[in-house]
Amino acid sequence: MHEHADLVLTGGRVHTMDAAGTVAEAVATRGGTIAAVGTAEDVAPLAGRGTRVVRLAGRAVLPGINDSHLHGVWLGAMWPALLMDRLAGTGGHAGTGGHAGTGGHEHTAPVRLAGEERVAKAILRTAGLLAPLGITGYTEPGLGPGEDGGATGCFGTSALRAYADLAERGELTARVTALMLFGELDGRSSADELAEGLRTFAPPPDVPGRFRVAGVKIFADGIPPMRTAWTERPYADGSTGALLVDGRDDADREAALRAMIDAAHAAGHQIGVHATGDRATRVVADALATAQARDGRDARHYLIHGDLLSPATLEVLARAGIGLNTQAGIPVATAPLLADALGADALRDAWPVRSALDAGVRLSLSSDAPVLTPDWRAGVAAAVTRAGLDGTVRGPEQRIAVADALRAYTVTPAWQDGAERWKGSVEPGKAADLCVLADDPLGVEPAALPSVPVEMTVLDGRVVYES
Ligand SMILES: [Zn+2]
Repeated sequence: MHEHADLVLTGGRVHTMDAAGTVAEAVATRGGTIAAVGTAEDVAPLAGRGTRVVRLAGRAVLPGINDSHLHGVWLGAMWPALLMDRLAGTGGHAGTGGHAGTGGHEHTAPVRLAGEERVAKAILRTAGLLAPLGITGYTEPGLGPGEDGGATGCFGTSALRAYADLAERGELTARVTALMLFGELDGRSSADELAEGLRTFAPPPDVPGRFRVAGVKIFADGIPPMRTAWTERPYADGSTGALLVDGRDDADREAALRAMIDAAHAAGHQIGVHATGDRATRVVADALATAQARDGRDARHYLIHGDLLSPATLEVLARAGIGLNTQAGIPVATAPLLADALGADALRDAWPVRSALDAGVRLSLSSDAPVLTPDWRAGVAAAVTRAGLDGTVRGPEQRIAVADALRAYTVTPAWQDGAERWKGSVEPGKAADLCVLADDPLGVEPAALPSVPVEMTVLDGRVVYES
């Protein structure tokens, strides 16, 4: 092979995120893939006519960032407003928390999109926000028929079509994975609607490498501050929340949720389940593990948010190979609300990301934007410090290392996408998706991470952002 590289980045710290945690000095890309990684001398021969050589001068390279739970249409429609910002000054009343919350959208998201063209505009606006952050991939967690009559218009089938069309035309600057939604966002659903949807709804076909409808999103419960999370212990008012799935009583709703998970698994889908209360996370982990054990398919199912997770539930997730997708900015913002709702004791099993890693759970960190900022640097800082804006540390024993947090934004989300063979790390043959930072994230004070500038974003070997 005598063809020269298209791009060589050399003289820096290339955090490859490979299995051994190799830090290299240089990387070369050619034809959209990584051609070489190693020392400056290793990579130098690939530079030739037509090669752009960037001297890193100590700057750092990461794999392109994958925000594995981000509502792209909603973010584009709302930006620069974020749900958490809006609620920050309210003393934490209705709607603050894990996912805007059951019934929280009506008063927090006054956007109204309709039609594929307006949705496409929101997606492109989000693309314009994410590329300067070094983000080269994200998951749209829940778009489909369940929200076709929804209040915001951000989550319906027109969004799936808009993504597919933009991807087809090469206008997306991030790889997008989508989960289908057959119930309401943060709201009710039923086993019958899901079964009907699986039978009759045809999502747009994949656009290889750019857009893929991977599976199904299911909402198990709400969020603890709203007392809608389904919990083992009662809230201060004696209630315990409940599953959002239609049913006469707890047992009936649990049976319906299990039937939904079984049906989506049997149909060959990946399943992401929003579950926050410890009773919901226990039942969902068991239901996903049980469905998977029936045929042994490596389905890449995952639990979303997981605000309250008992050690026993973490064991089930680890043993069954079920991922955990959570947002490090939530504990620092909502720990006092959780303590108000469930008592200070509840904080013991709250947002246990360190315990999850120790138990062997695959941990992905994400923004849930527009709930939190799409800036992953803030997410890494929150995971590493567990400190809020006022400096208060929430659950210091659950702090994780910078390297672990970076894996949770790169290699593990690639696993979540079922794409770890071809993306998520800087290794020869993989997709040339890169994020260049002005400083080494492992060398700065964790609290200073959000101010480390992103200097370049590369997708498929193409520079999609440069400062
Ligand atoms: Zn979400």
